[in-house]
Amino acid sequence: MTGIDDLPVRDELRGKSPYGAPQLDVPVRLNTNENPYPLPEPLVERIAERVREAARNLNRYPDRDAVELRTQLAKYLTDTSGHEVGLANVWAANGSNEVIQQLLQTFGGPGRTAIGFEPSYSMHSLIARGTGTGWISGPRNEDFTIDLAAAEKAIAEHRPDVVFVTTPNNPTGNAVPPETVLALYEAAQAAKPSMVIVDEAYIEFSHGRSLLPLIEGRPNLVVSRTMSKAFGAAGLRLGYLAAHPAVVDAVQLVRLPYHLSAVTQATALAALEHTGTLLKYVEQLKAERDRLVDELRAAGYEVVESDANFVQFGRFEDSHTAWQRILDRGVLVRDNGIPGWLRVSAGTPEENDAFLDAVRAMKKEQS
Ligand code: PMP
Repeated sequence: MTGIDDLPVRDELRGKSPYGAPQLDVPVRLNTNENPYPLPEPLVERIAERVREAARNLNRYPDRDAVELRTQLAKYLTDTSGHEVGLANVWAANGSNEVIQQLLQTFGGPGRTAIGFEPSYSMHSLIARGTGTGWISGPRNEDFTIDLAAAEKAIAEHRPDVVFVTTPNNPTGNAVPPETVLALYEAAQAAKPSMVIVDEAYIEFSHGRSLLPLIEGRPNLVVSRTMSKAFGAAGLRLGYLAAHPAVVDAVQLVRLPYHLSAVTQATALAALEHTGTLLKYVEQLKAERDRLVDELRAAGYEVVESDANFVQFGRFEDSHTAWQRILDRGVLVRDNGIPGWLRVSAGTPEENDAFLDAVRAMKKEQS
């Protein structure tokens, strides 16, 4: 049988595994930080309407520059951050994963390096590998905050071309203070200068505010966002960034022509028309996230402070065994391979109850 390694694949891909959160058929799935609420029916209707219109022109390529969509995303960002951004500041792609890939194709690549402070979102290093960008794993403190002195030292030593800051961080859930992001930006500019990508995939769930206003006067700072979480539209595949207009011009050097299909653009525009309704679900999820933190603590678990729609909890002598025992009770959570810890996404109140019952029962068995 011919396998991957029998093919002339690039050396850095040999022996590696693809990204793969298990997609198991269990009653309660709280493992991929999805929004548990299906899109409301009036929005489903509006999507069907806009897609029907788009279908009439599918013989033509879509708007290559996604002007209407980027204009509406800019409006959403302006309305929610209080910082005025326009079409020229915003770029969109198929999920923020593709945004990040385009950024690394533009600012990373062979002979260049990127740094992230781990544990963090594993796709940053995987996309670095896929784009031939060298990866540097920066440190974190024991409590998963960024150790600023150590981070500044690593930046000065390695002089990376790209610096990733994920806030709120995945999988740990904690936000990075704005002063830390600014200090990392200064350190990165002093060392190279390099691009700083602030991954705000979960920012709508945060107690704090978006760092979007920091792009003013900082052309090497990019804020990356997604409709997969707060908008409850992971299946849509729509991510976007906000930055200086020069960054938007630069990523167009690597984007594939017509990368955002007309169907995607129509669907995303319909969802943006319903922003107000969708953001109400965010408020419910934030309350459920806070309940998970409180109840997990009350049940005797350690919990990392969360600004996201998920919670990292522990500690377990063997997190994989704990993961399996929760699964045996019909609840799928995430084992990110961080020794002693597991991650649970905030679901509906009923799903969270099922999860809490499972972990309380597990605690009882242990004592
Ligand atoms: N950034 C972070 C920190 C994430 O956790 C995720 C999704 N798990 C993404 C980016 C990618 O999201 P998407 O491609 O769906 O926009």
